[in-house]
Amino acid sequence: MSELLVTGGQVLRPDLTVERADVLVSQDSGDIVAVDEPGALDGDDELDASGGLVIPGLVNAHTHVAMTLLRGLADDKPLDAWLQEDVWPVEAELTAEDIRAGAELGLIEMIRSGTTALSDMYFEVEEIADAVDQAGMRAVLGFTAVTVGKDDEAARSDLRESLDVARKLDGAADGRIRTTFQPHSLTTVGEDYLREFVPEALSDDLSIHLHANETRDEVTPIVDEHGQRPLAYADDIGLLDGDTYVAHGVHVDDSEIDLLAETGTGVAHCPASNMKLASGMAPVQDLLDAGVTVGIGTDGAASNNDLDMFDEMRDAAMIGKLAADDASAVDAGTVVEMATQNGADLLGFDSGRLEAGTNADLAVIDLDAPHLTPAHDLVSHLAYAVHGSDVRHTVCDGEVLMRDRSVEVFNERAVRDRASEHAAALVERASD
Ligand SMILES: [Zn+2]
Repeated sequence: MSELLVTGGQVLRPDLTVERADVLVSQDSGDIVAVDEPGALDGDDELDASGGLVIPGLVNAHTHVAMTLLRGLADDKPLDAWLQEDVWPVEAELTAEDIRAGAELGLIEMIRSGTTALSDMYFEVEEIADAVDQAGMRAVLGFTAVTVGKDDEAARSDLRESLDVARKLDGAADGRIRTTFQPHSLTTVGEDYLREFVPEALSDDLSIHLHANETRDEVTPIVDEHGQRPLAYADDIGLLDGDTYVAHGVHVDDSEIDLLAETGTGVAHCPASNMKLASGMAPVQDLLDAGVTVGIGTDGAASNNDLDMFDEMRDAAMIGKLAADDASAVDAGTVVEMATQNGADLLGFDSGRLEAGTNADLAVIDLDAPHLTPAHDLVSHLAYAVHGSDVRHTVCDGEVLMRDRSVEVFNERAVRDRASEHAAALVERASD
C-alpha cells in the first residue's frame, strides 16, 4: 500500500470553492483516498504544495498531439489553404518515428502545463499510445479516417483501421487509454461510408469523435448537397449520441444546438485554433444554456501554437463573451469547469473533480508570482492570470509525472532534441 500526501496547499473543490486542505492519493488504485483539513491525513510519501493551489489535472478535449513537429511551420492562413498547401504535404511524409517524437514532445508540454488527460485524433496510434503509456497520462485515442481523394479500397481501409484501432487499444496502459471511432469530418468522409461504418461502431458501443461545423466551408457544401444543416445530416446518419463529441461546433444554428442537447452529444471547443484560422466564434454560452457538455481543446500545435490549457481557458472566456456580446457570458468559473469536469465527462474519465474516489489526477500551481498577486479570487486567477509555466507538480493516476518542475517520466532534453531533428528532416523530405 503506497499513499502520497499532497500537503500544505489550498485545494480547488468540485463546487469551485477553495480551502486549505491536504489530498491523500493511493498509488495502488490511482484514486483519491481523501481530501481533509491540514494535518488530518498521513501518507508514505509527500508532495509539498505549500504556497500553492491544488487543482484537478486539466483535460485537453481535442488535440493532435504529434503535430508539435509542425509548430510554427506555416501560420496566418485560412483552414483550407493551410491544410492543403502546408499541413497535408508534410503529414504525408510523417513516419511512425516522427509521430512518436512529436507525441512525446507534446505530452511533455502538457505535463509541464498541468494537463493530465487528452483526446487525440491522428494516425500511427500505437506510437501515440506507447508515448501516453510512458508519460503516465490518461488519453482517448483513435485513428482518423478520411475518404475524400481516395479510391474505394483505400477509403474502406481507413475506416476499417479506425474501427480496429478503437477495439484494440481500448483499455491499454492499465485502463488509462480509451478509444473513439473517428471519421475526420462530415465533409472529408463520404456519406455512403458514414452510413456503412457508423452503425458498426455504434453496435460495438464505440464512442465517436469527429470535427464538425468548424468553418462556413464545412456547412455550405452539406446544406447544398443534402438540403439540411450538418448536424441534422449527422443525426440522420446516427452520429449524434451520448458517447459522441464533435470538435469545434463553431457554425451551429439554434436547431443544431437543440439537436446536440437532445442527443447528449458533447462539444470540444477550440478557441485559439478558431481565432487563429479565423474560423469564427462558437456560441459557447448558448450551448451551455441548452445543456450541452462543452469541454476545451487546444487543437494541434500547428494552429494554436502551444498546448497550454490555461491560455485556452482565457481564450474561451474572452471569445465566449465576444460571441455573446455579453461580458458576463462564459465566466471564470465556467471555463474552469469546462477544462476540468466537463472535459472529463466528455472523455468518459472519472477525473476533473478533487474528491474521494475519483482519479488521482491533479496539478499544483505555484502562486508565489507577481502576476498572481494579490489573491482576491483564485478561480479568477485560473481563468485569467495563471500560465502553464506556473505549474510546479503534476500527478496522474496517483503517480508523480513532474515534481518541482522536473519531468520525471521522460528525459526532456533528449525528447526535445529528437523532436527538433525529426521536424527538420521531415520538412526537408516534404520540400523535395
Ligand atoms: Zn482538430
